[in-house]
Amino acid sequence: LEQWDKEYVWHPFTQMKTYRESKPLIIERGMGSYLYDTEGRRYLDGYASLWVNVHGHSEPELNEALIQQVEKVAHSTLLGSANVPSILLAKKLAEITPGSLSKVFYSDTGAAAVEIALKIAYQYWKNLDAEKYAGKNKFISLNEAYHGDTVGAVSVGGMDLFHRIFRPLLFDRLPSPSPYPYRMDDLGDEEAVKDYCLSKLESLLEIHSAEIAGVIVEPLVQGAAGILTHPAGFLKGVEQLCRSYDVLLICDEVAVGFGRTGTLFACEQEDVVPDLMSMGKGITGGYMPLAATITHDKIFNAFLGEREEHKTFYHGHTYTGNQLACSLALKNIELIEKRGLVAEVYEKAERLSAKLDALYELPIVGEVRQRGLMIGIEIVKDRTTKEVFGVQEDVISRIIQNARDKGLIIRELGPVITMMPVLSMSDEELSMMVDITYRSIQEVVQ
Ligand code: PMP
Repeated sequence: LEQWDKEYVWHPFTQMKTYRESKPLIIERGMGSYLYDTEGRRYLDGYASLWVNVHGHSEPELNEALIQQVEKVAHSTLLGSANVPSILLAKKLAEITPGSLSKVFYSDTGAAAVEIALKIAYQYWKNLDAEKYAGKNKFISLNEAYHGDTVGAVSVGGMDLFHRIFRPLLFDRLPSPSPYPYRMDDLGDEEAVKDYCLSKLESLLEIHSAEIAGVIVEPLVQGAAGILTHPAGFLKGVEQLCRSYDVLLICDEVAVGFGRTGTLFACEQEDVVPDLMSMGKGITGGYMPLAATITHDKIFNAFLGEREEHKTFYHGHTYTGNQLACSLALKNIELIEKRGLVAEVYEKAERLSAKLDALYELPIVGEVRQRGLMIGIEIVKDRTTKEVFGVQEDVISRIIQNARDKGLIIRELGPVITMMPVLSMSDEELSMMVDITYRSIQEVVQ
């Protein structure tokens, strides 16, 4: 298998030497908070299998939901017909998402859910008044933003590595600074950083609002950017600016949604209701690819009309509204509610934060950021200068490998070690995750 993996499977980011040369971790099965490799070794899933797993692996009730649905039907198309789980799920999503969000467009990856939100926003203005809004073709997103890898989604990304080569193909984007208090301390405290970022966004909107279709943000935490936890009130400020300057607000809840930050959706914490919201990852509890974009009636109604009016949204995936995925999502949400998982995440995260503070004993830990069960540890060479280690020094990947050797899966995002555990992890397992991470960092420093 190891040989065939190298020979036949194109993994993401394969240019990295560490991926090419290291022994691949080949997972064979999972149970609860653990994954097991082909040699029977056990790993604590401190990454929730790329931020998706909610109730643990091989969860009996989710397994049963899948079996029950597959015995009825696995898939039929949503183009020209409907199916039971996708109807029930859409109704449920309308009930649990904030405000009057009520129209659900299904897709299968977070990037597609974002891309659909962008396309809807772009077309919405044309549908309202093609002449008046002819210029509303651009998007604002934050520095270092990550919203997925399709050409549309990567357009609003702020990571040069991901989009540089495709630049001629991309939507127009205007970047706005993201609040990153740790590296913006020359501006003052968190509040000052928030005010600065909001004032920069306002300046952009003042000049460009006639060209802006929408502003896209990850509510509360920029995940892939390195778990950048935004100061309180930032998201609310973004919402207020969108309303004042008549641009749509798109919240990308792909990473933060479904309980990860201690509320079902992160935007609830600031009482924000976006015009469009994209969801994915945890929606099926980490079982199957499913994503959704939800919007309100005002936007949906702008797409109604006869074919010759060109108001239709011409976007339709083959597997849109897949029955297996939708029935899993329904069961996932039912279990979240039945088990009080969201409140539990909040409380577990509170208890974990004291434990995380111990990481500051390690001299290369610059900052520990946490929101719910999203944790980022920024590793620096020098706490005063905040200089990061060079790629050649290989510090971060050695820490990650060290953790893996000790039976823990975590990952790095640039200079940040990130932990995004399975949401149902027990306090003991969460403690073990932090302990192993602590030792993995400590040993590399020595
Ligand atoms: N948006 C955000 C905020 C994400 O974190 C991700 C994935 N990490 C995506 C979109 C893209 O989701 P997917 O990988 O399922 O396409």
